[in-house]
Amino acid sequence: MCDNTLRRQYEALGITAPVYEYGMKILETLEERFQQIDRTAEYNQLKVIHAMQECRVSEACLLGTTGYGYNDLGRDTLEQVYARVFHTEDALVRPQITCGTHALALALMSNLRPGDELLSPVGKPYDTLEEVIGIRPSRGSLAEYGITYRQVELLADGGFDYEGIRKSITEKTRLVTIQRSKGYQTRPTLSVERIGELIAFVKGIKPDVICMVDNCYGEFVEEREPGDVGADMVVGSLIKNPGGGLAPIGGYIAGTGECVENAACRLTSPGLAKEVGASLGVLKDFYQGLFLAPTVTAAALKGAVFAANLYQPLGYGVVPDSVESRHDIIQAVTLGSPEALIAFCQGIQAGAAVDSHVVPEPWDMPGYDARVIMAAGAFVSGSSIELSADGPMKPPYTVYFQGGLTWPHAKFGILRSLQSLVDRGLVAERCLKSGKEAPGDCRKTSK
Ligand SMILES: *Cc1c(COP(=O)(O)O)cnc(C)c1O
Repeated sequence: MCDNTLRRQYEALGITAPVYEYGMKILETLEERFQQIDRTAEYNQLKVIHAMQECRVSEACLLGTTGYGYNDLGRDTLEQVYARVFHTEDALVRPQITCGTHALALALMSNLRPGDELLSPVGKPYDTLEEVIGIRPSRGSLAEYGITYRQVELLADGGFDYEGIRKSITEKTRLVTIQRSKGYQTRPTLSVERIGELIAFVKGIKPDVICMVDNCYGEFVEEREPGDVGADMVVGSLIKNPGGGLAPIGGYIAGTGECVENAACRLTSPGLAKEVGASLGVLKDFYQGLFLAPTVTAAALKGAVFAANLYQPLGYGVVPDSVESRHDIIQAVTLGSPEALIAFCQGIQAGAAVDSHVVPEPWDMPGYDARVIMAAGAFVSGSSIELSADGPMKPPYTVYFQGGLTWPHAKFGILRSLQSLVDRGLVAERCLKSGKEAPGDCRKTSK
């Protein structure tokens, strides 16, 4: 009876019986995966609570300052909490850091000096960093300041090219940047363990090199963070995992005392460093968001695993696949046709709590070589810890999606995406019944 009332609730939101039943059948197989995700969330929840207790977070910390922000108790305490959670000496956690790219640019620009060289041993960095580094010429880039850049590609099997890395570390090499998440590429995401191996190798060759990890989308997916395996700087965005969906802006740099001090001197000013920077009214959301982040990340992870398992039997390519271990919250599904990509994104949008009535269309986004379609009905604009999806309108028509502040919303949003494909005749209903057709058999490329 309970199940029937739940089903009616889904029906009221446009999920038909075949889609609902197919989803429930897939879910039955995921119990163990979900238990594992819950255990990690439990571990990380305790880690966060422990850090907050040790730092004596008090009600007064939730208030903010204005103006210069001298003696901002809440801001300074929060930075100590982050340092404990990420197991680093210090941290900079500020609303004045506007996004993930800004946090990464700040970490790089403040710790590199003219004549230094930056090395990426894991291939091309995230798109927006190309302009920060100057791979694509850009005003204010590291290249303009006489900082050079080298990159070593990953091997074909995703492994590290240790020989190539050894050859690329010279007397000029000052900082090594390691991106944990694959972002919107096809390489595998790096586990914390593999990041640790890479850092140990680099430090074995040149002990004083600074190892920075772009931690975007990776926070709280595992029990360990890059700070546990020797990273000198761990950098990310608060409108992704660690903001828990509540942070309305912000970025963080957790790292050695010296690296964080350098970053603070660049964010504010030499001499002022961490002493200024009013927290305005955001501290309560930063604290509460961090408190919620482990379970919010778990919800997003369950959504990603559910989607891989939902779409793979229907013949769609999924990365990571249905059984792989996860190191970030991003899921890619190769939909194979423009109609299917549009239907998927419109389904995700229709499942949102905010802007569900808006219909996303492909558009010419600056900086991309193809039109892009994006679904984002979010409480915080652009927040990608909330259920969101986007993809370039070009073969093989892959959608990347991530987030979901709660598991029920992630589940509903993903079912809604499938419903959208079914409603347009892009997935054969008989496949939902069997759930195990030959790959490609279920997909129809036109109506
Ligand atoms: C999102 C992301 C960034 C950039 O963050 P923005 O907040 O979008 O500027 C950098 N690196 C990775 C791996 C990311 O996922």
